Amino acid sequence: MLEIREKLILSRPLYLKDDDCGYCHHKKSQKEAISVQSWSDYYALNHQNQTETPPSISIGFQVENMTVEHYDQLINRGFRRSGTFLYKPDMLRGCCRMYTIRTNMDMFKLTKEHRQTVNKFNKRIGIEGGQDVKGKNGYDLMKELRKMDDSGKLVIKFEPSKFTKEKYKLFTKYQNHVHDDYKTSEKSFKRFLCDTPFSQNDAVIKDNKVLKFGATHQCYYLDSKLIAIGFLDILPSGVSSIYLIYDPDYRDLAMGKISGLKEMELTKKLGLDYYYLGYFIEDCPKMNYKRKFGGELLNLTDLTYHKLDDISDYITNGKYCAINSKNENIVEDLYGINSKEFLKAKEYSDKWPGISYSDVDNSVLITNSDDNSTPYDIPTVIPGVTSLETLFENWNTNQIKSLVFADGMIRPAIYDLETATIRKILIDTIRILGQGLANDAIIFI
Ligand SMILES: [Zn+2]
Repeated sequence: MLEIREKLILSRPLYLKDDDCGYCHHKKSQKEAISVQSWSDYYALNHQNQTETPPSISIGFQVENMTVEHYDQLINRGFRRSGTFLYKPDMLRGCCRMYTIRTNMDMFKLTKEHRQTVNKFNKRIGIEGGQDVKGKNGYDLMKELRKMDDSGKLVIKFEPSKFTKEKYKLFTKYQNHVHDDYKTSEKSFKRFLCDTPFSQNDAVIKDNKVLKFGATHQCYYLDSKLIAIGFLDILPSGVSSIYLIYDPDYRDLAMGKISGLKEMELTKKLGLDYYYLGYFIEDCPKMNYKRKFGGELLNLTDLTYHKLDDISDYITNGKYCAINSKNENIVEDLYGINSKEFLKAKEYSDKWPGISYSDVDNSVLITNSDDNSTPYDIPTVIPGVTSLETLFENWNTNQIKSLVFADGMIRPAIYDLETATIRKILIDTIRILGQGLANDAIIFI
């Protein structure tokens, strides 16, 4: 058995709705906010008086402990972390489609705008002799980025994911001036950007080598003054960007763009494969900078990645897409009104041994946040969550290796002996995490 610190220790899965979406701020029309065209048409036709739009919806876990390897797998199943909270959007029912996006130097398309930004930055910190931005003789991006480190003016340090007064001061200044947010507190800063669920704690990087994976604060000092921090996770398959803050007095340095390039450079220097930029939302203007990094999006249906350029037609106007092995968009077949997945879910929810899924109504897509549902009602059909059919057809209760923390003790979950509540938690956890990760799990009941 794995040692406790190698376990994925987490709460039961939660299904969370929030009317205050940080991306669209609940300003989309119903038509714009609904994920799939046939559902959108259905609501326009049949619910003309009902104009409510979906809330922001995610599946989440509070995580007490996990390894970087766990998190690496979770990112590639569409999850992200905020402090010690793990979440992934319900791509069907929420207001915004949040696609996992990743890139690297090979997929990146260098534009004149990037070259200008880099040259301007270097000139501003006293580095002369930038290459021609028109790129006629080629433009060696890595060389220009390296000059920043060699200049002596800019010093970039990897610091532990720990609270300091200096970092908090910069965070407050950034939130006040850039996001009009005057409600910062030391506690919220720690919870959002310092706390990590990793058993390995902080990353250790030395001479462009990863000595230990984990979280890190990439701190940018200009003439010894802290001007920006990139909050990063250094994972086996790549560098994951969580957040960036910068000093608004240095707005002209375009730290948002520069830090993205430096993080992509870091990925390459460390010999890692991907730079994870978080989520990409096609109809959110704030995300346009991510498009400029090129890269690929996660297809939740089979957990494969597809080039953003190849599928940009499928995701236009913020729609959800599901791609098959022939690169076709089969979203209507799978998730359209009366589609296969919904019919199958209805059929299999009645078959499920020992518990009832029938209380979950799949005939509606818009669910209000103020209805009577509990945060435990995970719908039967969610993209990227194993279907009841697949689980049922491969079902063998002996395969359950999850442990449960219940009544003050940790014990193996024995499906046939569990209560209906615990059975549902086990099934939902396996469906959401996948069998492999669920095997490592200790679930707080
Ligand atoms: Zn939204």
